[in-house]
Amino acid sequence: MALNLILMGLPGAGKGTQAQFIVDKYQIPHISTGDMFREAISKGTPLGLKAKSFTDNGNLVPDEVTNGIVRERLSKDDTQPGFLLDGYPRTLEQADALAGMTNELGKPLSAVINIDVDPKILTDRLTARFICKNCGATYNKLYHMPKVSGTCDICGHHEFYQRDDDKPEAVKTRLKVNVKMNTPLIAYYKDRDLLFNVNGDQDINKVWQDVDKILSTL
Ligand code: ADP
Ligand code: AMP
Repeated sequence: MALNLILMGLPGAGKGTQAQFIVDKYQIPHISTGDMFREAISKGTPLGLKAKSFTDNGNLVPDEVTNGIVRERLSKDDTQPGFLLDGYPRTLEQADALAGMTNELGKPLSAVINIDVDPKILTDRLTARFICKNCGATYNKLYHMPKVSGTCDICGHHEFYQRDDDKPEAVKTRLKVNVKMNTPLIAYYKDRDLLFNVNGDQDINKVWQDVDKILSTL
């Protein structure tokens, strides 16, 4: 059976970090709308030009743009064994649009994993985040340094960057915008019996154990 998943959680909750473990073990594509926008922006595509003014300030890209890229991505063949959506849906309109897509494509959702973290600790996590320039692996100056200083654990490269929207001003807006949308979205998936909550305020490996325990029961 296909494993069709949503990974939910506020910015900095640990979605990208857990996504690496999930796709590694379950071999399903990682579909991060944030990564798709960043790639389009760095390549200067029409999508990137549309998204940039929103992402730069920490606001949400309009639903019709975001729904369009997800629809296109979910139609691809590599989602047959399943998919892991990360950072989508983020509004109730997106959740309804996704329900339409999964219905049309015959790819019903298996579960929604919500990584639950008190928003108060997220500013520190986000402003201390840094990312491998080569493979995108995520690290943290406070909580998760590479095993060998200056060298990516995953690919061995030595260059890292900080996301523009992880600077303090954008972080503030992102948290505000996302906290507002989070509660109704959680209720939406709880009502549909798809929601699993995981405590994201634990060591990264412990969070993964909890996530994997849920996935192995699906
Ligand atoms: P998201 O994809 O939800 O925005 P990330 O996975 O990029 O979040 O994690 C945000 C930052 O917090 C990264 O720097 C990451 O290394 C760190 N992080 C992730 N999970 C934990 C955790 N359980 N405890 C402490 N820091 C974490
Ligand atoms: P993320 O990498 O998930 O933190 O997303 C980075 C930025 O991309 C967000 O601050 C938004 O501007 C945009 N974005 C990502 N996913 C969505 C979405 N589902 N809806 C609207 N905007 C999004």
